[in-house]
Amino acid sequence: MKQKFEYAVEQFADLQVLRYQVPGFEDLSLRQKQLVFYLSEAALQGRDILFDQNGCYNLRIRRLLEAVYLHYKGNRHCPEFEAFEVYLKRVWFSNGIYHHYACDKIMPGCSEAFFRSLVDDLPDGQLPLRDGETRQDLLDELLPVMFDAALLPKRVNQTDGEDLLLTSAANYYQGVTQAEAEAFYAAQKRPDDAEPVMYGMNSRLVKENGRLKEEVWKVGGMYSAAIERIVYWLEKAMEVAENEEQRHVIRLLVDFYRTGDLKVFDAYSIAWLKDTESRVDFVNGFIESYGDPLGLKASWESIVNFKDLEATKRTATISDHAQWFEDHSPVDARFKKARVKGVSAKVITAALLAGDLYPSTAIGINLPNSNWIRSVHGSKSVTIGNLTDAYNKAARGNGFREEFVYSAFEQELLDRYADLTDDLHTDLHECLGHGSGQLLPGVDPDALKAYGSTIEEARADLFGLYYMPDDKLVELGLLPDGEAYKAAYYAYLMNGLMTQLVRIEPGNDMEEAHMRNRQLIARWVLEHGAADGVVEWAHRSGKTYVKVNRYDRLRDLFGELLAEVQRIKSEGDFEAARRLVEDYGVKVDAVLHQEVLERYRRLHLAPYKGFVNPVYTAVRDADGCITDVVVDYTEGFAEQMLRYSRDYSTL
Ligand code: ZN
Repeated sequence: MKQKFEYAVEQFADLQVLRYQVPGFEDLSLRQKQLVFYLSEAALQGRDILFDQNGCYNLRIRRLLEAVYLHYKGNRHCPEFEAFEVYLKRVWFSNGIYHHYACDKIMPGCSEAFFRSLVDDLPDGQLPLRDGETRQDLLDELLPVMFDAALLPKRVNQTDGEDLLLTSAANYYQGVTQAEAEAFYAAQKRPDDAEPVMYGMNSRLVKENGRLKEEVWKVGGMYSAAIERIVYWLEKAMEVAENEEQRHVIRLLVDFYRTGDLKVFDAYSIAWLKDTESRVDFVNGFIESYGDPLGLKASWESIVNFKDLEATKRTATISDHAQWFEDHSPVDARFKKARVKGVSAKVITAALLAGDLYPSTAIGINLPNSNWIRSVHGSKSVTIGNLTDAYNKAARGNGFREEFVYSAFEQELLDRYADLTDDLHTDLHECLGHGSGQLLPGVDPDALKAYGSTIEEARADLFGLYYMPDDKLVELGLLPDGEAYKAAYYAYLMNGLMTQLVRIEPGNDMEEAHMRNRQLIARWVLEHGAADGVVEWAHRSGKTYVKVNRYDRLRDLFGELLAEVQRIKSEGDFEAARRLVEDYGVKVDAVLHQEVLERYRRLHLAPYKGFVNPVYTAVRDADGCITDVVVDYTEGFAEQMLRYSRDYSTL
């Protein structure tokens, strides 16, 4: 009999580590397995890049913590050592000393004096000392960064009115003010350029002798040691590519890593999005810009995956009808695409996660991010089936719904439809939402600046929400009946108004773009439907619930907001974006927040989840040729992190 797969690995602080299965890996051809293996190696080689991008002290702190963890000889079974251990695990999980989601500094649970005593126990040879550096130098440099809450408190600061660069600890700018950086990049843009590269995406901007200069991430540039090893494995992957097109994609990526030329990156992105036939696929590079308060610099990430052939039929149905959805959306005709191009969509099985997609990850991806490429060539959109499945299975029966859902009616709705509608909403968000609409001619794609990410996510979410009750979805066989959408609506509003607050520390604002967007939509709908009693707060035995009275009216409200959000994006209306986000998306209701945290605490659940990867081992014959690749799911969290630090330490 097959052993039951254990999805839960461990839980600490506000985090739960899960494990995912890779169904179908065994059925890949040997060549495809080799390809997955080489791409996975290329993925793991980039780990240190992200640590360094997330803050310039992260790598040294990680190494110091790991040295203590590996070599400390004293008592490990006291509360202070256990607190130290939790701190190290949090640093691993967040790829640095800032919370992966909230962006604020993780404070160690042990005292500075205690941590010093741990370090004192180690000989110099086990400490990550630079040439000529004493242990005192090391501690003088790192301890304030770790233990002083006021020093560099946030990785990404989004507070309106402050200098977002000087107050952010992310390592994307050095000694550069926000105004200087904005002017630097504004000067590179030409209004008549129909194919603008994503300026500044692959570099750190520094001031040297009073002049601004980009340190480019490439072979021979910044992060060269890591990038050379990524390139080494990509070239191996090229040898076993499934077809010429895919080989070309990998070659362009290698060229980009060698040259740092953003035109080459665009060429790569176009080739990549057009390769929809290959079974195995991957992302490897500087992709998302959430970690930069200006939204320019891209953090390093990788995912290796292969197509889930059965589930892909569902998203293919959606993208086959992309034009219908575009034509029938409630936005102004001027902001619609006359022809929606290349909305490709597939469901994938993740085989390995790395960089900014590990351990915490996305369940859907829509790339590339370049606006002009998206409008001319379209984009490739994926939902990651095996990860969603792992989340759902791990959450079954944990008491969350019972606690927060208003009544048995909604409970039943969610039990019956929520797995399905969650998947479908993700598909609509990724396959249609991000790809819909267009900018008016001459509008700067970065016009919304720091509000751009939130507005973009809101646009994609609203597009999906608007269509949920549409008969078209039942007609296409994507939903079983006209009731299912209510599960999506209830789940969305409960999360946006209330339950996502479990991810926020008391007293903090909403920072992350997806969370801001969900609160923005939910609060806006609550307020604008108030006169008709569409959604309301309900109270019972001292507890607050979200109560939906009129599901039929919700669609109109989502449509109305979609039209406005699309207008803001299409016209580049910065002021309207700022107001919408600041008025609805940022501030947290302190009293409700307190209540939600209290109720959540009693459930003993962790609000954030992430994954350990499976381990792939190449089986080789006497000549060193790979004859098989086997997958193993038994590695633990600390075990995996220590192995990665040992085998993939590049910087
Ligand atoms: Zn999105």
